[in-house]
Amino acid sequence: MSYDDSNIFNKILSGDIPCDKIYEDDEILCFKDIKPIAKIHVLIIPKEKYISFNDFVSNASENTITSFFKKIQKIADKLNISKSGYRIISNHSLDANQEVPHFHIHLVGGENLGGIKGK
Ligand code: AMP
Repeated sequence: MSYDDSNIFNKILSGDIPCDKIYEDDEILCFKDIKPIAKIHVLIIPKEKYISFNDFVSNASENTITSFFKKIQKIADKLNISKSGYRIISNHSLDANQEVPHFHIHLVGGENLGGIKGK
């Protein structure tokens, strides 16, 4: 499977579709999920094109992977949810019902999230 340029997050990255931006730098973009499942629900995406977690971890450089995950923790700090707690989720492919084939992490918090099957 190859990367599909028509996916919505690629359109957000190219500026064709707007987003509610939380943070951006040269490597990543973080924006609010359009259908939040909790008080805080943001998506963090790399600017490079990877289809899913599997693709990202298999093919990105170790520096890119480390930097990406460290930035998620910084965003959690910025959103003031590091102390209260949060959940990170990444859906890979069919059984996880991944909707958008551009790798992303859901960062969810701001309230008690219940069990893992809360979505
Ligand atoms: P996933 O199943 O992990 O691929 O989830 C994709 C997520 O992207 C869902 O939680 C959607 O609500 C969210 N989403 C889809 N389109 C947009 C958009 N234009 N802006 C923000 N979030 C979006």
